[in-house]
Amino acid sequence: MRLGIRWKLAATYFLLIIWILAGTNLLLLHTLEQDYLGRRQATALAGANIIAASGGPDLLRGDRNAFYLARRFGEQTGARVLVVDRTGRVLVDSFGESRLEGKALRHEEVQAALAGKNAAGAHVLADGERVLYAAVPVAVDGAPGGAVMVVTALDDVYAALAQVRTRLSLVSLAAGLLAGLLAVALAGLLTRPVAELKRAVQRMARGHLDARVPVRGGDELGDLAAAFNAMGAELARVDRMRREFLANASHELKSPLSSIKALAQSLVDGREEDVEVYREFLRDIDGEIDRLGRLVNGLLTIARLEGEERPPENRVEDVGRIVEQVLGLNRARAAQNGVTLRSEVREGTEWPVNRDLLTLVLVNLLDNALRYTPAGGEVTVQAQAGKDGLEITVRDTGVGIPEEELPYIFERFYRVDRARARETGGTGLGLAIVRQAVRRMGGRVTVESKTGAGTAFTILLPACPQAAGGDRL
Ligand code: ADP
Repeated sequence: MRLGIRWKLAATYFLLIIWILAGTNLLLLHTLEQDYLGRRQATALAGANIIAASGGPDLLRGDRNAFYLARRFGEQTGARVLVVDRTGRVLVDSFGESRLEGKALRHEEVQAALAGKNAAGAHVLADGERVLYAAVPVAVDGAPGGAVMVVTALDDVYAALAQVRTRLSLVSLAAGLLAGLLAVALAGLLTRPVAELKRAVQRMARGHLDARVPVRGGDELGDLAAAFNAMGAELARVDRMRREFLANASHELKSPLSSIKALAQSLVDGREEDVEVYREFLRDIDGEIDRLGRLVNGLLTIARLEGEERPPENRVEDVGRIVEQVLGLNRARAAQNGVTLRSEVREGTEWPVNRDLLTLVLVNLLDNALRYTPAGGEVTVQAQAGKDGLEITVRDTGVGIPEEELPYIFERFYRVDRARARETGGTGLGLAIVRQAVRRMGGRVTVESKTGAGTAFTILLPACPQAAGGDRL
């Protein structure tokens, strides 16, 4: 089974908590045990010392007095009191058992006491009983002449510890369960955004570009959600633009086709005998076919500009020559329209450019300038290389563009005056192509215009263009 991130997190929390609880419990029990034993040792040693001090060397005589002293103390404290001589032989046993009397004790506490030191230690007897031995020397003329050993049972201590352990275990179990539940809930809370994101990604993969996730909190998951939403919005935008473009393109292609169809149909259906009428209709059809051709060419150019992934190759070119060549193509038309064409490119202006792209841009800008400049006007191309880059301006003294239209003129198929643009042969793709081509060169294009006074399009090609691949739609 695949374990989700939620359960992994929860299991980690849970194990960590259990581990900490177990550790603290063990530490606590150990400390308690040490504390209990320490106290017991102190009490036992104190008792042994009292007996040794109050009995003194008389104890070592092993007579009845010594026995009573030992027994009284033993009865008071519930301990067994033994008195041994210098060799460890038992002289007195408060339990009065004859079994031990006369036997030598070899316990390390007794040995230590006989060497003059107080000593105490816990032991486990053969039958599993836990006892505490505490032994102190009995001084005779300033040297240990024997020892008093107090033996106490530790059952009560261990019973108390066992009780504490049981309670601790119960509390820990409850705490552990609670922690486990909390861990699951917390992990769920933490992983919820991830689960939401996953669902949204799956939805988007199925083509629902409107899938969004709620952005919660300012952490990395919140950032991720915001980034995902931004990506979704961009994808939706691109998708909408593509659909719009397709609809517009179809519409634009359809209108000349309809005209051609209508013109041809009327010739086929009519009983017209006059050849001149035929000629006129065919001229119209020819014009519409030209329009279709321009549209298809424009669309192909856009597709080519968009499809190209690699940045264009640049070569240092004489900008004046390129401008001159494009102007040359337009001289006849300008003369026909009564418009003056001028180039104001400083001699020797050289710049690394892509000749084809730059030509494409200039051809389209000049085409527009001539189309929207009435007779008597002037179209000028200026170019100069500065520290910001190469700046080329195509300026005309034509009809100009209303200010409120300026933001839209670079959009595909956008025409300020639909009817007139169509009359003059515009497709609405010219400036879209210009913008796309300039971006491919890593530059940008701006426009300034005044209605009735003229228009100036300026392209700026930076000195070192940022690589421009496929462009935003
Ligand atoms: P079109 O093929 O219709 O010229 P463009 O994309 O080249 O399409 O231009 C979009 C619109 O911008 C045009 O319809 C026109 O109204 C306006 N325009 C472009 N260039 C000029 C200009 N030099 N002077 C006046 N208007 C212009």
